Amino acid sequence: MDGFIESILISEEEIDSITSSLAEKITEDYKNSDKTLVLLCLLKGSMGDLMKKLSLPLEIEAMKVSSYGSSSVSSGKINIQLDLNRKDLSNVDILIVEDIIDSGNTLSRICKHLKERGAASVRTCTMLDKPARREVDFVPDYCGKTIPDKFVVGYGLDYDEKFRNLPYIGILKPEVYGGTSADNPQSQTEVQYAL
Ligand code: IMP
Ligand code: MG
Repeated sequence: MDGFIESILISEEEIDSITSSLAEKITEDYKNSDKTLVLLCLLKGSMGDLMKKLSLPLEIEAMKVSSYGSSSVSSGKINIQLDLNRKDLSNVDILIVEDIIDSGNTLSRICKHLKERGAASVRTCTMLDKPARREVDFVPDYCGKTIPDKFVVGYGLDYDEKFRNLPYIGILKPEVYGGTSADNPQSQTEVQYAL
C-alpha cells in the first residue's frame, strides 16, 4: 500500500501525541458534567485511540450517514444509514468523533439533527480539518490538526474503501485517482482507479 502514498503527512508518533492532547482537553471539559457522555463514532472512520485515552465514564454509539451524493446537495437533510441505539438523548452529552472535516456539511447536519432530537449538548471532535474546502460555516470544538487541501488516507480514512488500515496518515498519489496534484478525487465524477 505504501507505493500509493506520495508522502506521509502525519506519522504514527504524531498521531499518538495528537490523540493524547485531544483526550486531555476533552477529559478536562467533561469531568464535571452530570450527564451521560456518549462518544458518537461516525463510521467507518476510526478514533479508537482517543476513547482509550479518555479518563471519563462514557458510552459508545455509532452512526453512519452518507456525506456525498444526492443527500448532500444543499437540501439540509442527511441520509442516516445506521442510527444510534439510544433514542432518549435528553440526559446525554454527545461528542461526535469524526476523522476529517471537509465541506462541513456532514457534521453541521448531524449536529442540527441531534439537537433537534433533544440531546443535552452536542460537540464535535475531528482528527483532521481541511478548512480550505468548507462549504458551510462550521468550526469543530476539538481539532487534532488543520491540513492543506490534499486527499489523505490511512488511520481510518479511505479512498474507495481502501487504505483505512495504514497506521499513519498519508497523501494519496494523484495517479491513484487519475488526477493531477491539484485535483481532489471528491470532485471527480469518474475515476480511473485500479489497485
Ligand atoms: P464533509 O465535511 O461533509 O465534506 O465530509 C467529510 C467526509 O468526507 C469524511 O468523513 C470523509 O469520509 C470524507 N473525506 C473528506 N476528505 C477526505 C480525505 O482527504 N480523505 C478521505 N476521506 C475524506
Ligand atoms: Mg470516506
